[in-house]
Amino acid sequence: MSFTSPKVLVLTGGIGSGKSTFARAFEALGVPCIDADALARTVHQDPAHPATMHIARAFPHAMAPDGSLARGTLRTIFALDPAANEELKRILRPAVLALADDWSRRQQAPYVVWESALAMDQAMPATRVLVVDSSDRNRAARIALRNPDWTGEQVASIIAMQLPRADYLARADDVTHNDGTLDDVRALTLQLHHRYTDMWS
Ligand code: ADP
Repeated sequence: MSFTSPKVLVLTGGIGSGKSTFARAFEALGVPCIDADALARTVHQDPAHPATMHIARAFPHAMAPDGSLARGTLRTIFALDPAANEELKRILRPAVLALADDWSRRQQAPYVVWESALAMDQAMPATRVLVVDSSDRNRAARIALRNPDWTGEQVASIIAMQLPRADYLARADDVTHNDGTLDDVRALTLQLHHRYTDMWS
């Protein structure tokens, strides 16, 4: 079978909602997945990238001596300042979109998954947006488990700086819930995959 450029399923939701868990389940079904937030890290850890130089001009105090974005500043500087966080995303977004788009065009599949907590809020060339929804309580518990060194306040501030749940839901073409088991995740992903394959094959 030959494919044209794949459709893009954007998989989003707040931190700790279970995006990566769903992405791994899509991957297990053979769907190519890319983590747009990891792409953002490759950009801001590259001192020679024009976007990183732009960040350095806007936020000199957030940079490491080598000219990359200093590790930890996402929670020590940007988590505490929503305007700075917005500006950082605005600078990174075009670079991340270009990388994700380039990767997508090289995949041989009817559709690919772009996973992103940044939600790539605007200008996201998604064919469809799938939101992973989960209770704040479950999200906080998962974030705390994954980051044992974070204080309860840091966990709360990270959740608070995400788009409100209602905003994610308003943007969704499809919503999947993640307040059950990992078996539930696999079963829900399989249902979604059948739908998308029917739609896009
Ligand atoms: P996100 O990518 O949205 O930040 P993750 O998928 O990384 O969230 O999930 C956060 C943590 O919670 C991970 O350690 C993951 O293994 C765990 N987790 C997510 N969903 C479930 C679930 N339904 N049951 C058990 N653990 C889960």
